[in-house]
Amino acid sequence: MAESMKGLKRTHRCTEVSSANIGEQVTVMGWVQKRRNLGSLIFVDLRDRSGLLQIVFDENNVGKDGFEKAGTLRNEYVIAVEGKIAKRSAAINENLKTGDIEVIAFSLRILSESDTPPFPIEENSQTKDDLRLKYRYLDLRRPDLQRNLVLRSKVAFLMRNFMVKEGFLEIETPMLTKSTPEGARDYLVPSRVHPGSFYALPQSPQLFKQLLMCSGYDRYFQITKCFRDEDLRADRQPEFTQADMELSFVDVDDVIDVNERLLQYVFKEAISVDVKLPLPRMTWQEAMDRYGSDKPDTRFGMELRDVSETVKGCGFSVFTSALEQGGSVRGINVKGQVVMPRKKIDKLVEFAKGYGAKGLAYLGVNEDGTYKSSFAKFMTEEELKALVQSMQGEPGDLLLFAADRNKIVWEVLGALRIHLAKEAGLIDENQYNFLWVTDFPLLEWSDEENRYMAMHHPFTMPVEEDWERIDSDPGSVRAKAYDIVLNGTELGGGSVRIHQNDIQEKMLEVLGFTKERAWEQFGFLLGAFQYGVPPHAGLAYGLDRLVMHMVHAESIRDVIAFPKVKDASCLMSEAPNTVEEKQLEELGIQIRPKEETDA
Ligand code: ASP
Repeated sequence: MAESMKGLKRTHRCTEVSSANIGEQVTVMGWVQKRRNLGSLIFVDLRDRSGLLQIVFDENNVGKDGFEKAGTLRNEYVIAVEGKIAKRSAAINENLKTGDIEVIAFSLRILSESDTPPFPIEENSQTKDDLRLKYRYLDLRRPDLQRNLVLRSKVAFLMRNFMVKEGFLEIETPMLTKSTPEGARDYLVPSRVHPGSFYALPQSPQLFKQLLMCSGYDRYFQITKCFRDEDLRADRQPEFTQADMELSFVDVDDVIDVNERLLQYVFKEAISVDVKLPLPRMTWQEAMDRYGSDKPDTRFGMELRDVSETVKGCGFSVFTSALEQGGSVRGINVKGQVVMPRKKIDKLVEFAKGYGAKGLAYLGVNEDGTYKSSFAKFMTEEELKALVQSMQGEPGDLLLFAADRNKIVWEVLGALRIHLAKEAGLIDENQYNFLWVTDFPLLEWSDEENRYMAMHHPFTMPVEEDWERIDSDPGSVRAKAYDIVLNGTELGGGSVRIHQNDIQEKMLEVLGFTKERAWEQFGFLLGAFQYGVPPHAGLAYGLDRLVMHMVHAESIRDVIAFPKVKDASCLMSEAPNTVEEKQLEELGIQIRPKEETDA
């Protein structure tokens, strides 16, 4: 029978005691990790969020009833033990923080019993993900997840601490807001009071934080949930946490400065990693040209090289026709890999096709000066030599080429570069390579929409000297936008904002909004701009991703207490779910059967 806490008070967490407490009386509480009976002695490993502590029950100290009760303990029972700290009688356990001590119990209460858990509660559990997530409350008892969430809490605290010291105010912005058509798909919430109308859950506090700047709060930050109804990828969740900020009277360098110091502080205090400042910066163009990615992993080389000039007049039509169509030919040099078996090269070709390439051309430079190649027969000896030279190829190297539109070439080689480096073990997992990527294009052409879209968002300031080309060559206009990248992932991003109504209206026009629609959608921002708006800029971190990298977690789910799975459902609570007819009626909503919706 479950006993109560009456008259009991916990004195320590399990690992808050040490050999310094020998002889002291303590009251500890937690879960039974394991019980072992050794005749006249019963040993229990007691677990709480701090770790494990060994308890010893013997009849002399705990009494006959207490000893019998201890004999009934099973895994995951919740107990309270009063006892005395003693030096361990048996062998010391070096792996345990409390491995040299134990508690000699003189009283035991069973606070609650437990069914046999569906999987063992232990470090690095091999249990299948689905089962873990269904019983997330048990999964969360595992030490690795507990460590992750403890660190996450610490990171959030450190961020707040730093921001407050720097003069930022934490201000909450609405969760029920207005749907805006730019960006990802919104999660909608039906309004009961206004049938047929919907709120949207925020994709980010973007417009509100800009309005706070208009209202004079000058430095804002918030750690807040954001929602995007997108198809999930491994490192995405439908709801995620942003550490979000906005500053007034600043330009790019000011935002970068405060964020570099923030990162340095948080990495030092949370995981004792020294971050050297200033962090390196690279323009978007350079990042794409050298790494084929706007979030390059700079922990290893294997950089891309543009060989378009070299192959311009060659006899290999795959190369020349790509160039004729305005594309490029680029390659990477996989050092020493001419020995790669044909089968494996074929797999790389398939890999490249997965990223939209039509194929992948390879040129291996044999030690004897001959070539192993898919296309050497179409080129003269001189052309091949020149090509190897522009790739800084040496005997033993394997050169891989993609020829297509720039976008595809970058994507294919960028992905291939990471894939090969991982395979070859070229990446030092203990290195933290930060990088600012700056000067993103303002606009990105969308084939699907047949129009330009904002690359960051529609409120991003163009680079001043590029703005005059907004009509003649919109694709060439750069933005005052920046991303902070760590080891090949984007930790956060932001921009200087447009604070001039005329530029903002023009930007919305370029994005395909009529003046009326722009005002209908963003009127509250455009209106605010008419009453005195300070130049402002900001940035937001994906907090989940940041913590994920700090703890080297494999999945973003390992740093979120109650995550969702790929189809955006929660296996534990079974959300989303149907609701009662009455609730739908109140909302004026009728569910159409699936066939009708598809038709
Ligand atoms: N609101 C932006 C985002 O969610 C970040 C920013 O520009 O501050 O990506």
